[in-house]
Amino acid sequence: MTSDATQSTAAALIPLQPGMFRVPDRLDASVRLLGAWCRRCGQQFFPWRVYCAACTNGDLEQVEFAETGEVETFTIVRQQPPNSVMIPPYAIVRVRLDGGPSVQTVMATDDVDAVHIGARVRLAARRVKEDEAGNTVVSFMARPLSQYKEVTHA
Ligand SMILES: [Zn+2]
Repeated sequence: MTSDATQSTAAALIPLQPGMFRVPDRLDASVRLLGAWCRRCGQQFFPWRVYCAACTNGDLEQVEFAETGEVETFTIVRQQPPNSVMIPPYAIVRVRLDGGPSVQTVMATDDVDAVHIGARVRLAARRVKEDEAGNTVVSFMARPLSQYKEVTHA
């Protein structure tokens, strides 16, 4: 692989919040969120925190959660909130990660009426914006597993 500083398309992917997940090598790659697991009571948290919100213990371990989960609940947004870059309609979903905590995100689908409780999803890296240096800022969204063509991991 060559390094070409003049190639503006070779910008890096950087996470919206540091430590959110391991930076994927491309957009739409599945992502595993990084969070905390309490060694005393077993509660899990995303994002990472210093003290356990359940038992106030400060002995937390960093963990990488599963990239797959299930929709616990959702809402369909049909009006564009002021200053929002999201184009309605879109679905905001609460996903219970397999063996992990619940996280809130947006469902990446053109068919919001197909979103339902119990739907299996995979978290994927999504472009948020370009920063001033030309890097692509990425966050995560849920994608219905039925729309995922990716080969399963070894
Ligand atoms: Zn705890």
